[in-house]
Amino acid sequence: MKGNRILLVEDDKLQAKITREYLESAGYEVILADNGKTAIKSVKTGSVDLVILDLILPDMNGNEVCRWLKLNEDTRGIPIIMLTAKGSTMDKVQGLHAGADDYLLKPYNETELNARIYASLRTKALQDELREKNRQLEEVLSKVEVLASTDPLTGLYNRRHFEKIMEIEFAKTIRYNSPISCIMVDVDHFKKINDTYGHRTGDIVLKEVTRIIQDCIRKVDTAARWGGEEFVALLPRTGKEQAFYAASRIWESIAGYPFPTIETQITVSIGIASVPDPSIDSAEKLIDASDIAMYRAKTLGRNRIETAS
Ligand code: GH3
Ligand code: MG
Ligand code: MG
Ligand code: MG
Repeated sequence: MKGNRILLVEDDKLQAKITREYLESAGYEVILADNGKTAIKSVKTGSVDLVILDLILPDMNGNEVCRWLKLNEDTRGIPIIMLTAKGSTMDKVQGLHAGADDYLLKPYNETELNARIYASLRTKALQDELREKNRQLEEVLSKVEVLASTDPLTGLYNRRHFEKIMEIEFAKTIRYNSPISCIMVDVDHFKKINDTYGHRTGDIVLKEVTRIIQDCIRKVDTAARWGGEEFVALLPRTGKEQAFYAASRIWESIAGYPFPTIETQITVSIGIASVPDPSIDSAEKLIDASDIAMYRAKTLGRNRIETAS
């Protein structure tokens, strides 16, 4: 605790001198202020670890200084010990209401003052430590959240997280009676790509497919990696026809893209399902319907778009 900087706010010069000398002999660095305004300025500009605050000051009441410091985001963590000659319960209550952390009557015993300073600084150090731990914990938690919801290869949302978003969006669809569409995209004969060029090149192709899909949908749409070489996109407030345009963009862009690491041309099979549809009354059914349509595209010869009927 030694080496901490204490702001002593005291207008009585003799009292200030005595307290200052005592605190310095106890190892603290002391700065003085003899009125409220100077006190606030000192706290704002200098790094102060604790304030010893006289209640009666020439320009303002110590409680006002205290309230100001406690209302201010940057200074509220600094402990304040109020010093006063007045001893009525009302004064103490007011001081504590204003946010003082501790209260000491004048004339005070120096050993007691020192003990209270020590206790306040220790509490502050523990609070700072706790705050820092909380910050670190939040940082870790948000990293875990990202890891838990994204696919490491493509950076897209994973299936689990996509299903969560899907539930929310589907609920909105029901609530606002708006359309919604789901597009399922599966790369054709992808196994051959792996077999011919290796798994690493296959990974690169999947990343490129990801980028193309993302370029073909709007910011409000959500793309995810549904499985190995299967992707899914959710298009809120989008009916059958608009979804078909989006799917066509994806289909065309992939079929026309000169993938630099392979010589084979990549194609995809796409299934679309849209609401309103009397047979689709849940998020799950919407996904299933797009999946079924995609499989139909496969059986009909691949490299095509099929819409759920
Ligand atoms: P189809 O046209 O019927 O979809 O044929 P396909 O070969 O694409 O489908 P199949 O399901 O037989 O094979 C999918 C392949 O995708 C097999 C698997 O090794 C590969 N795959 C899945 N995940 C990854 C991945 O993360 N990286 C790479 N490189 N390949 C993957
Ligand atoms: Mg005074
Ligand atoms: Mg495939
Ligand atoms: Mg597949």
